[in-house]
Amino acid sequence: MRWLRQWFDTSAIPTQDGQGDRRIDWPRVIPFIGLHLGCLGVLWVGISPTAVVVAAVLYVVRMFAITAFYHRYFSHRTFRASRPVQFVFALLGASAVQRGPLWWAAHHRHHHRYADTEQDPHSPRYGFWRSHMGWFLTKEAFATDFNRVPDLARFPELRWLDRFDVVVPLALAASLYGLGALLARFAPALNTSGPQLLVWGFFVSTVVLFHATVTINSLAHRFGSRRFATTDDSRNNLWLALLTFGEGWHNNHHFYASSARQGFYWWEIDLTWYGLKLLALLGLIRDLKPVPAWVLERVER
Ligand SMILES: [Zn+2]
Ligand SMILES: [Zn+2]
Repeated sequence: MRWLRQWFDTSAIPTQDGQGDRRIDWPRVIPFIGLHLGCLGVLWVGISPTAVVVAAVLYVVRMFAITAFYHRYFSHRTFRASRPVQFVFALLGASAVQRGPLWWAAHHRHHHRYADTEQDPHSPRYGFWRSHMGWFLTKEAFATDFNRVPDLARFPELRWLDRFDVVVPLALAASLYGLGALLARFAPALNTSGPQLLVWGFFVSTVVLFHATVTINSLAHRFGSRRFATTDDSRNNLWLALLTFGEGWHNNHHFYASSARQGFYWWEIDLTWYGLKLLALLGLIRDLKPVPAWVLERVER
């Protein structure tokens, strides 16, 4: 029953486990399938404005935590944050059910290094579904290679989050159920309930968030324009940038990944960048790395 233990404790997965094994690890992906099936709960719990607002707010907060921190901070170190701030946003990121921050950053750094080669875990050159979600479910994808993230692995609190990556999502799900039950009792006019907030706030919001995030792997390497002649297939795509709070400027990002900003011009809407500017103004983060002038001069016309 090692696979069952691995649902709850990722340290049960050896680091080199399943290297090169790109078959779907069915026992391990049962929770992922369950997450999707949970959305069918809408047929029973109904809908209310409260449930939709909760789902939307959780989408916004968690998308920001993924793009600003899992991606631009942990994976690319594009700004600086104190240890408590780093941990709070790691917690919020972990609630998105995209595994722990070390796992995410290790796989993402690997993607940049080998983008659109056979070694890339999620290049659409090898199939749309594999790049969108198949890769996430393979045996080789479950382990975290700490050698790729030595700068993050030295924080025990981050390693803990990575090891028990289901704890935060389970706590979120339980809290939503509890909140819904309280509102049903004390604010019945809102017409919500524990099961309704659980289904909308957790299952629906998380599944939409997941599929929106991974469009950057699948669609942003296929559809859009190319400003920079990178060796990979990355594209700039406004619609994906809106959906993912700025990550759709993916060709910009593959050309120069060390900037906190991915929309390189004012008309390239990058909500994560605006959020980061705000956090910097509030003094929560600092040293946002800019887009250097030489990058803008390199534009192919
Ligand atoms: Zn990146
Ligand atoms: Zn990419």
